[in-house]
Amino acid sequence: MLWRRMKLLVTGGAGYVGSIVARLLLENGHQIVVLDNLERGHREAVPADAQLVVGDLRNPEDPRGVLRAGGFDGVLHFAALALVGESVEHPERYYRTNVTGTLNLLEAMVAEAVPRLVFSSTCAVYGQPDEVPISEAAAPRPQNAYGASKLAADHLISDFCMAYELGAVSLRYFNVAGAHGEAGEDHEPETHLIPNILKVPLGQRDAVQIFGTDYPTPDGTAVRDYIHIDDLAAAHLLALQHARAGEHRIFNLGNGNGFSVREVIAAAERVTGSSIPAHEAARRPGDPPRLVAAAAKVRDELGWAPQKPELETMIADAWAFAQANPHGYAAG
Ligand code: UDP
Repeated sequence: MLWRRMKLLVTGGAGYVGSIVARLLLENGHQIVVLDNLERGHREAVPADAQLVVGDLRNPEDPRGVLRAGGFDGVLHFAALALVGESVEHPERYYRTNVTGTLNLLEAMVAEAVPRLVFSSTCAVYGQPDEVPISEAAAPRPQNAYGASKLAADHLISDFCMAYELGAVSLRYFNVAGAHGEAGEDHEPETHLIPNILKVPLGQRDAVQIFGTDYPTPDGTAVRDYIHIDDLAAAHLLALQHARAGEHRIFNLGNGNGFSVREVIAAAERVTGSSIPAHEAARRPGDPPRLVAAAAKVRDELGWAPQKPELETMIADAWAFAQANPHGYAAG
């Protein structure tokens, strides 16, 4: 639905989520400028119709330089580090990129009078709340520097909304999966469960590792709420339309269904038709046992309705991308 043509900055538009949201925005008639340092993203992932500016949010002049061109209606902010394990080992990287980077972006937005922001946040801000499914009312108690840095960014955004009449929406993602046509997930190193599982039927690994089999869950492995990248991307368009000046609105984004690591492996076996051996390994530091969204608020207030809630659909789309790009974008 073309609401009105907007000129938008997408930070992190060379990454998995940012590049696919940028595609959807272009498909809806918007004008897109991508700002990405290409440290973890891929030049090839940036949609052809977007303008790519290579720059780094840790340098205040970089976002300022892009926005100075003028006429921007909003920013969608994905540029961040997003690995739990790395954040436990190198917290300084997470605070510098995710917090300082967001501060530099916000200051540039205020200086250039950009009115709205959609922020890529995470359920990692909650840690492991007492109540699951997790609602937006849960007290945030992050268990790792990744979640803490994203929560700090949310605090910054709230304060900028109050002080400067910015309209912002944070979407707290649960576990994003799947692909959008020729665009998909390609991380180096790959730490995420579904792409790692798929390396087995691709013939690139003999087995997948299960990190932790002694969690307080029905089969002892960690439970996550998986959401299709297309459904996640659609929520960003709704968020853009529903940003309100002076307000910071926060929504959880998941399907409300939890799947254990063993259940995801079994689903991947069904989708790929291959047997996928698994080795049991120790828990990964910083991983909570069970993260499932109570996502009524995003449905009620933004009218979000997932089109692809089945885990098999997400894995099938990820599998199609993996088969088409067995060594990721760079080799493609
Ligand atoms: N996981 C696993 N083996 C892997 C990768 C991940 O057992 O090779 C587990 C991980 O410990 C977590 C779940 O799968 O419990 C989802 O991990 P992922 O890295 O995909 O997403 P996260 O929840 O950390 O954002």
